[in-house]
Amino acid sequence: MTYSLGDWRRTHYSKNVDSKLKDETVTLMGWVHEIRDLGGIIFVLLRDRDGIIQITAPSKKISPELFEEIRKMKKESVVAFRGKVQGSNKAPGGVEIIPDKLKVLNESKLPLPLDPTEKVRAEIDTRLDSRFLDLRKPGVSAVFKIKSRMLHSVRLFLEDNGFIEVNTPKLVASATEGGTELFPITYFEREAFLGQSPQLYKQIMMSAGFDRVYEIAPIFRAEEHDTLRHLNEVISIDIESSFSNEKDVMNTLEKLVKTALNDVLEHCSDDLKLLDVDLQIPKGSFARIEYDEVVDLVNSKGVQMRHGEDLSRAAEKAIGEIMDDYYFVTGWPTDIKPFYVMPDENDPERSLAFDLMYKDLEISSGAMRVHKMDLLVERIKNQGLNPDSFERYLAAFEYGMPPHAGWGLGAERFTMCITGSNNIRETVLFPRDRRRLTP
Ligand code: ATP
Ligand code: MG
Repeated sequence: MTYSLGDWRRTHYSKNVDSKLKDETVTLMGWVHEIRDLGGIIFVLLRDRDGIIQITAPSKKISPELFEEIRKMKKESVVAFRGKVQGSNKAPGGVEIIPDKLKVLNESKLPLPLDPTEKVRAEIDTRLDSRFLDLRKPGVSAVFKIKSRMLHSVRLFLEDNGFIEVNTPKLVASATEGGTELFPITYFEREAFLGQSPQLYKQIMMSAGFDRVYEIAPIFRAEEHDTLRHLNEVISIDIESSFSNEKDVMNTLEKLVKTALNDVLEHCSDDLKLLDVDLQIPKGSFARIEYDEVVDLVNSKGVQMRHGEDLSRAAEKAIGEIMDDYYFVTGWPTDIKPFYVMPDENDPERSLAFDLMYKDLEISSGAMRVHKMDLLVERIKNQGLNPDSFERYLAAFEYGMPPHAGWGLGAERFTMCITGSNNIRETVLFPRDRRRLTP
């Protein structure tokens, strides 16, 4: 038994071994997914990041030492096989490997806390406790391959559309926007907080003359949520765009969503198949519905909702049943939106804010922003906040702040839409919620 790679290197991933490689020698590395010992022949399923391949070890064709080594292998150990590719109409994928040499690189302890073969379904908490094993399941890792592709295509799209990537601080001095709870931390001899959103910094960047910025970074919300769609740390895809209004950035958001969906469809067909997802690209433009109409529709479904209120969970469900997959809700009451949201000039009780919904799930909030200092100070006061604590933010509005608009799109909520996950925990490697801070 050897624990060292030596000069062995993987020549192929399992999914790249096909009958074209017949009679060639390949080196494969991965985990022992399953072993079936039939006495005179042993079948091993070797799993790597991209799939599973069969190693077939007939006692008559291989050395007794190798046969014995294979027989002693334990499930989930890390191994490397060198062997010949052979066509097989019984093996999954149509090929099998007849091994020449084996290296056991690291033996797994048994029994396993979790079975990566997915034969036994485990509860989400058990799965998250042993996430490294859980993530070995192809159907679990597929979500993260799709999330990775989505983020990649979002980046490409924004770069192609003139957005500059920025990184703003996550350690912040004061309760920024109000409205949501913050995590206090000790910052040397002072108290500070974890950032709930890059909002104020994105806006300062508009005054800095960057015109179009984006950031893909964690946001921290200290609310004691206990739902399937909230976590306390998530990734927000944020943009801010100068010399633009709310309609412009809604169009950007709509294009971005469609581009990402198309891209995932094109590049992640295997992962979508594993998840049993038939990804539909919305045809035509996303519907745009006014808040007032939403209230009426919600009430018509027998769910009580007064004009001026935010959507309750029941209201979200009611409207989700009426509307098609992706739709915008516009014309939100100014009172329930943050201070930086621009009221409608002709009807100041209404704001130029929008949400993008997917069925009953809010995936993005955005708006035309207030760029006039006096109105901004008034809005801050109206929301019961103290303009003095926004001194450094407000300064950016005094010396030439252009009109601007933007939005924040939850990366996990968007991933839920694409992968059909109904628990946000499925879309985060190591979720942070009210009860979970490890692993
Ligand atoms: P909700 O009403 O669903 O709690 P929100 O309106 O408080 O969300 P925003 O402050 O508008 O959230 O944040 C913008 C986007 O960031 C949301 O539309 C969502 O996609 C994502 N997001 C915000 N908070 C959370 C959270 N706690 N968990 C998951 N995603 C979140
Ligand atoms: Mg929102």
